[in-house]
Amino acid sequence: MRVYIGLGSNLGDRESFIRSAIEALVRTPHISVLRRAGLYESEPIGITNQPWFLNTVIELETTLSPQELLALCKGIERSLGRQHQHRERHGPREIDLDILLYDDIAIHEPDLTIPHPELHRRRFVLVPLLELAPQQTHPVTKQSLRQLLALLKDAQEVNFYRDLN
Ligand code: AMP
Repeated sequence: MRVYIGLGSNLGDRESFIRSAIEALVRTPHISVLRRAGLYESEPIGITNQPWFLNTVIELETTLSPQELLALCKGIERSLGRQHQHRERHGPREIDLDILLYDDIAIHEPDLTIPHPELHRRRFVLVPLLELAPQQTHPVTKQSLRQLLALLKDAQEVNFYRDLN
């Protein structure tokens, strides 16, 4: 299955956390990491009094199920020092891994929604995803990523980002 994962970090050496998370995925059996988008810096949403995030998206091929992949992502977050106990929603984190797309399937389970529920609202996800998958459409709404990005502009739901590439 073709999968896209979004990565974000806004604590410590952000680039190194992102690199380490990708290396952990590279080392995992049944996963081939194929490509990585560029790095983008984005303004935090929600709690704005925190450092800017570094974001990217990777493309991988895997035979792992969505739930197996979710468990793996949570394990990587934990191993890279993310403290789940005292974490606020939208608060600072060493590393965050979000399963954005898993083939063209739609899942709605208590702990897992695919496509990622915020995918179409986040510029810092849509821009790097578009780099890797320009022909991709949203499996539920059937809109192209370009359309989703254009709608975001119209709605002026701006999250500012900087292209570091
Ligand atoms: P976050 O604060 O972004 O790390 O979200 C935490 C929770 O979101 C995780 O514990 C997951 O169970 C849940 N979740 C739901 N859908 C997804 C998804 N597509 N990718 C990653 N986490 C998800």
